[in-house]
Amino acid sequence: MSTFAGRRITVAGLGVSGVSAARALARLGAHVTVVDGGDGERQRTLAAGLAGEGVAAVLGDGRTLPARTELVVTSPGWRPDSPLFAAAGAAGVEVIGDVELAWRLRGAGGPPWLAVTGTNGKTTTVRMLAAILTAAGLRTAAVGNIGTPLVDVVLDERPYDVLAVELSSYQLHWAPSLRAHSAAVLNLAPDHLDWHGSMESYAADKGRIYEGNRVACVYNAADPATETLVRKADVTEGCRAVGFTLGPPALSQLGVVDGVLVDRAFVPDRRTHAQELAEIGDIDPPAPHNVANALAAAALARAYGVPPAAVRDGLRAFRPDAHRIQHVADVAGVAFVDDSKATNTHAAEASLAAYPSVVWIAGGLAKGATFDDLVRRAAPRLRGAVLIGADRALVAEALARHAPDVPVVALDRTDTGAMAAAVAEAARLARAGDTVLMAPACASMDMFTNYNERGDAFAAAVRELPGHGRAEN
Ligand code: ADP
Repeated sequence: MSTFAGRRITVAGLGVSGVSAARALARLGAHVTVVDGGDGERQRTLAAGLAGEGVAAVLGDGRTLPARTELVVTSPGWRPDSPLFAAAGAAGVEVIGDVELAWRLRGAGGPPWLAVTGTNGKTTTVRMLAAILTAAGLRTAAVGNIGTPLVDVVLDERPYDVLAVELSSYQLHWAPSLRAHSAAVLNLAPDHLDWHGSMESYAADKGRIYEGNRVACVYNAADPATETLVRKADVTEGCRAVGFTLGPPALSQLGVVDGVLVDRAFVPDRRTHAQELAEIGDIDPPAPHNVANALAAAALARAYGVPPAAVRDGLRAFRPDAHRIQHVADVAGVAFVDDSKATNTHAAEASLAAYPSVVWIAGGLAKGATFDDLVRRAAPRLRGAVLIGADRALVAEALARHAPDVPVVALDRTDTGAMAAAVAEAARLARAGDTVLMAPACASMDMFTNYNERGDAFAAAVRELPGHGRAEN
């Protein structure tokens, strides 16, 4: 019998992971109550569906701990300082997240987890990793923060050999006993600091991914903060630190030599031997930060014992998800690229660095970010900028300070037609050979439902440009 049967468990939040946790726990015989501060149509519909599965729901009050709760399972978005957790703490009730629940639910012989976190690049890396594992003939799935709740996967009847797991800092915060086979932290830049309270606690939560790793802790040699996290982690004896770099690899690293990805970590003699894995041209798109993602995915796959040919085949089979440096069209010699998923400055900086001459479409909700460093570094590549959204003035001020010669158009509108106007302005500023890059460095919710809708609006506007669809030489 599961250790959850008969227990009174409160699930916080009716999101994707909360619903999955509530269902799973009810099936295992727990007495489950879901609490959600909202009381809208969405919550009511979900609550009605769960009622049929024996799950109680309290809507419109996310603060009060239901009587006799023995365990709280929280959704990742709930802040640690939420009143519900204060109430749990006062009552001596443990709070765990959906990932911790999945970890506790997995069977003893369950598949090992290859885990990925970082400020940016998680989804891409996990998809690359799953493609590589699949190319190696392994039964795997890309799961976790990427969309498929881990609880669903560990209770799944299908047999998996190994899982490619994306974990957010929120999920790691609430997953104290997780022990991955191997894990990677791709990079660390300020994000979600309102949730974590400080950069230190954000980094510490990310660093939990390395705790208890058995084979390899993969870090970014260009981002010393990630290596520091490896050093702080308490790993299983014999577990190795493995770096990745865009330059030639040192001992125990994966890196790049003359356009070829090479491995000097998982080879018979690291001092003399470098194993070629794939070419940069095998990666779509071959932008530097994406090569870094590919190296991290390759490192985790190699830690699991995947042969070099499968790394190459997997990377060749990989296609990026929509809105991540997605080439939309060439119009009059100008490439139009949708990087709507660049919702913070660290992500936007990476994609701006991938193009030599850019008309940049930026702006939206800044979430407390400052743009000076980003603009200073991108300035030499900027042909022009078109600014949209609520916090466009913040970007405009940074451009005025660090790129005074770059022509800037700030659109004084946030209606649905604003993106079409921005694309038309950007096309006007661009010359043949330039890239119009929508990498806003901001969240989208001031003008759009989410980054998908923002990216779709961009692509639709590009298709409306005069000259679109005409054959390019
Ligand atoms: P996440 O799942 O961490 O949000 P994604 O793979 O969805 O990451 O990529 C989000 C955005 O971050 C991309 O659109 C791109 O602009 C940027 N990005 C991707 N990989 C990296 C990286 N390694 N370093 C910096 N920025 C990156």
